[in-house]
Amino acid sequence: MTRPTSVTIDTQALSHNLTRVRQCAPTQQVLAMVKADAYGHGIIPMAKQLDAAGVDGFGVACIDEAIQLREAGIELPILLLEGFFTEDELVTIQALGLKVVIHDKWQVDALKKLKEPITVWLKIDTGMHRLGLLPEEVKDAYKRLKSNAKVEKIYFMSHFASADEIHNPQTKEQISQFIKIVKGLEGGYSLAHSAGILAWPETHAKWVRPGIMLYGVSPFKAYTGSDHQLQPVMTFKSKLIAVKRLKKGEPVGYGATYHCEEDMPVGVIAVGYGDGYPRHAKNGTPVLVNGIRVPLIGRVSMDMITVDLRQCAIARRGDPVVLWGEGLPAEDVAAGADTIAYELFTSVTERVKRTYL
Ligand SMILES: *Cc1c(COP(=O)(O)O)cnc(C)c1O
Repeated sequence: MTRPTSVTIDTQALSHNLTRVRQCAPTQQVLAMVKADAYGHGIIPMAKQLDAAGVDGFGVACIDEAIQLREAGIELPILLLEGFFTEDELVTIQALGLKVVIHDKWQVDALKKLKEPITVWLKIDTGMHRLGLLPEEVKDAYKRLKSNAKVEKIYFMSHFASADEIHNPQTKEQISQFIKIVKGLEGGYSLAHSAGILAWPETHAKWVRPGIMLYGVSPFKAYTGSDHQLQPVMTFKSKLIAVKRLKKGEPVGYGATYHCEEDMPVGVIAVGYGDGYPRHAKNGTPVLVNGIRVPLIGRVSMDMITVDLRQCAIARRGDPVVLWGEGLPAEDVAAGADTIAYELFTSVTERVKRTYL
């Protein structure tokens, strides 16, 4: 057998998850987040599938991602989430008909030189304190944009810092801050990412901006996608390439971080951090062997991991393994590695074969 490490991407699951977004936000426009290669799922096939399923636009992190979409024939609106990094990008932005986030005063000034009309999304910092105009800067920026004949539409947006924690009061504070700032200013609003879409209906406004839920994952701690009737899009698979029986007390792997608790079968799987499996995954992180959850043991190597097969004692070389996806939520694996599914998905490396279903 050739190296059996692969990713399958279920495009039907993606469409299903878009339908779930629509059910949660039935009257909103949906701007699908496809930044970072569609969270590692492949920007072109994901965008094409979402386009066919009736999405209203896309959000990307930079102009190169927008170029990829336009070159693939995507004609829907595309929003540059961080706007332009330098003024010279405006030529390409206009040529491709992109929409831009304006998050800083210098960008407002730069728009004076525009030749063609443009739609801008004024990003307001309501407490995240990453990108965005500070509350006291908004009125002036809005006035200047309004008086720029080339700015045809102005939307207002903000981003939540803690909406993934359902009871965190920061979200309510950000919402009321936003309402206060945009009062009296005309334009559509956009606040909700996946957590907002699922748990904060008062944030739906005109445009919703789903990312992780489109890929089948819950944005909330201690929940998984299936709790919201979402389906996993990415399944990361491999196979057992060896099974050995070790004696009680024997160490496993680099640094001997695990010792066998008894005489036991140990499986070796062809996946490692060189494929994007998280090196920090701890002993006990779940791995699915033959559909049965078994614990990771020992350190993750570049090309291999080892698992405790006591609960799957009939397992043999060649048996199928799911690292995350169908049958094993990426959220559970992320928890074992002190990270989030977003990072797992965007970490899968080039050498892993991808198949689109
Ligand atoms: C990435 C991103 C989102 C999507 O967030 P999810 O938690 O993946 O739904 C929404 N809005 C902005 C501005 C983003 O950068």
